[in-house]
Amino acid sequence: MRIFDPHIHMTSRTTDDYARMAAAGVVAVVEPSFWLGQPRTNPGSFTDYFDSLIGWEPYRAAQFGIVHHATVALNPKEANDPRCRPVLDVLPRYLDKDRVVAVGEIGYDSMTPEEDDAFERQLALAVEHDLPALVHTPHRDKARGTRRTLDLVAASGIEPGRVVVDHLNEVTVGPVHDSGCWMGFSIYPETKMSPPRMVEILRRHGLERVLINSAADWGVSDPLLTLETARAMLAAGFEEDDVERVMWHNPVEFYGQSGRLDLTAASAGEPTFAGSSIKRGGE
Ligand SMILES: [Zn+2]
Repeated sequence: MRIFDPHIHMTSRTTDDYARMAAAGVVAVVEPSFWLGQPRTNPGSFTDYFDSLIGWEPYRAAQFGIVHHATVALNPKEANDPRCRPVLDVLPRYLDKDRVVAVGEIGYDSMTPEEDDAFERQLALAVEHDLPALVHTPHRDKARGTRRTLDLVAASGIEPGRVVVDHLNEVTVGPVHDSGCWMGFSIYPETKMSPPRMVEILRRHGLERVLINSAADWGVSDPLLTLETARAMLAAGFEEDDVERVMWHNPVEFYGQSGRLDLTAASAGEPTFAGSSIKRGGE
């Protein structure tokens, strides 16, 4: 089984995670830029991070036979910090890079006017650079946040088929389905979405325009919940082709819209563990 995790923060994960993912059949990932937990205080902090997402992290992933692409953006939470906002001016430089396959994560955290502005400007950048957009929905007040997200996306003029609205649940999936945007689901050990609930949503809403991710990061999360969801689909009577569609073809279709997805290394065969240079990483 080939798995493409379309939203995972490998910067926050260890080489053990890469090894487990490779063994589980994860051969491709997209790592969106996000909030690192510790607030950043200047744009240089962002550019070093972006450079790492398109330089160091793909190299680290390749040691485990995993192809790594990234998305870059000013995340919704830090859009509220005036010290961080100037990063919007350097984003265009990164949106031209080969390994960058979307603008993201953008969207809402607390739904402030500053977030409106950053969200709007970055959707415009996606249109300008002919890239898809990855939109995070807020953890608090999710239903209202999702409605406001869909309104802003519609007003921006970006084609809905080039937008994924992520971290959905049973309440927010309907309006996103109707909008024509892609539906993203983060399978988390404790909150958001579980494999059985995800299977039920697939039964109701179908497999089209669905992306399933682990969104694993520095919080309690599990990079193998994509595999567990695939197993739950099979146990519930879905065919192997259905699993392949959701876990592989859908993310390829969505991020393929960037024209930059290069998966040649992912189809080269069974992932191999060859992390010798990584083991010496501290040197
Ligand atoms: Zn994320």
